[in-house]
Amino acid sequence: MTDKTPRIALCGIDLESNAFSPPASETDFRNLCYLEGDEILADARSNTPRCIADLTGFVGTMDTTGAWAPVPLVYTHCHPWGPADQAFFDRTVDQIIGGITANGGVDAVYVANHGAMLTTESKDPDGDLLARLREAVGLDIPIVVTLDLHANVSARMAEAADVLIAYQTNPHVDMFERGEEAAHVLRAILGGAATPQSAFIKLPITPPTTTLLTREGPYADLIDYGLRRKRELGGAILNVSVVGGFVFSDAPRTGLSITVTGRHELEPAQRLARDIAERAWAGRERFQRPLTPVEDAVASAVERGNNMKHPALIYSDAGDNPGGGGGGDTMELLSALIAANARGVLYGSIYDPALAAEALAKGVGAEFTAVFNRDPATRFSTRFEILVRVSATSTEPFVGRLGLFNDMLVNTVPSCALEIGGPGGITVVVISNRYQTADPMFFEHLGLDIGLARTVCVKSRGHFRAGFEPWFPPEQVREVDTEGFTSPDLSRFDWANLPRPVYPLDKDTDWVPPNW
Ligand SMILES: [Zn+2]
Repeated sequence: MTDKTPRIALCGIDLESNAFSPPASETDFRNLCYLEGDEILADARSNTPRCIADLTGFVGTMDTTGAWAPVPLVYTHCHPWGPADQAFFDRTVDQIIGGITANGGVDAVYVANHGAMLTTESKDPDGDLLARLREAVGLDIPIVVTLDLHANVSARMAEAADVLIAYQTNPHVDMFERGEEAAHVLRAILGGAATPQSAFIKLPITPPTTTLLTREGPYADLIDYGLRRKRELGGAILNVSVVGGFVFSDAPRTGLSITVTGRHELEPAQRLARDIAERAWAGRERFQRPLTPVEDAVASAVERGNNMKHPALIYSDAGDNPGGGGGGDTMELLSALIAANARGVLYGSIYDPALAAEALAKGVGAEFTAVFNRDPATRFSTRFEILVRVSATSTEPFVGRLGLFNDMLVNTVPSCALEIGGPGGITVVVISNRYQTADPMFFEHLGLDIGLARTVCVKSRGHFRAGFEPWFPPEQVREVDTEGFTSPDLSRFDWANLPRPVYPLDKDTDWVPPNW
């Protein structure tokens, strides 16, 4: 217990790495969000922050629960992409560690990381950062970390941190609450009301991303069970994090993990962690889910465009989700819809800055032959030409309004809407920043009415569900089996570093519970 105002370091290097996507450079981080020192606090306290909401929730809750002396160091965030450049990562970690020692040490550390990062040289940079922090502050200073639900938690991460707090929702809508929780947990530790003891279990299961939803299904059942048991155990358990992992990181630490933190004692945490892990293992066959073939999706869209009696549907272009390292520029589904002359389609969003700039220059009403992917960025960036009419353009960033990007500033400009096949045909949104289309504003900022579409297609695998729920409840959602860096069909990839055998890739995987 201490009477002096606690000095609390704030930092984060937030990246979800897909091992098959191109490397994430320093420019990629700086283009989205790179904040140093007091910029972090100013951003987290603003009405439309650029940092992830865990940090906003943490800072806001620390501000209202007593005195604290923030020591803001570096917070940076990149769109999901490939491994981070090692030199940039090392420099950033050095700057964070240097900031702690230069300030004469701190009383606690808060880290906001995604938890599924790779670098060009390390398979566990999240663990590298936490181990460096532990080394710098010693064993007596608490380190509290918030993580995405798709984190690949390593034993090293669990050992280095006092408490790991992962999101509990997918689509992620509880980041702010987890940041709040981190602040309350840290206050409890600093006040002597908690001396955390964590139990960590990794299972040889790498669930396809489409099976990690939390409204219903196997993953929802595990999370609900863990939280119910936590409640039933009174105050003995500080946190339960059932973390699905991100299979596309293709790293030894990839997979489903369970971290349970006891308030003062290890034993109840171990018992609950083992209980949840055994349930997950017993139900592992549920971590498989069928996708809609492209041909079926297109045929159904054509039918729906001609017959108003069928309810409108939303399609996830699941193989090319920029929220999981997709390039946001594959043409497979869009070109198939065009070839079939589908009507009443809204398609968002293709990442193509050159095309967006050209449409902006030509202006609304202009007709021209659009060349998508004139400079192919990845092996999935297929060049595609089609006659279009510019129906809208924008040079203003927008503020997200539902789900993942709620209240966040989203800068996609210049952006445009291109009409294909005349009015009532297919309208495609083109953007200049590689976002996943998880918010209705991606269409609405260009004046497009989602309610009028017969088919909406989005480059997003799961987060669009929260953003488009007002029009598309779960029964009107289809995940389409498209190509790209994020295909939920795991047999499409050449895995190099996954722990094998692993379920569901290897059906005869075995697992033995820890002998606690
Ligand atoms: Zn996630």
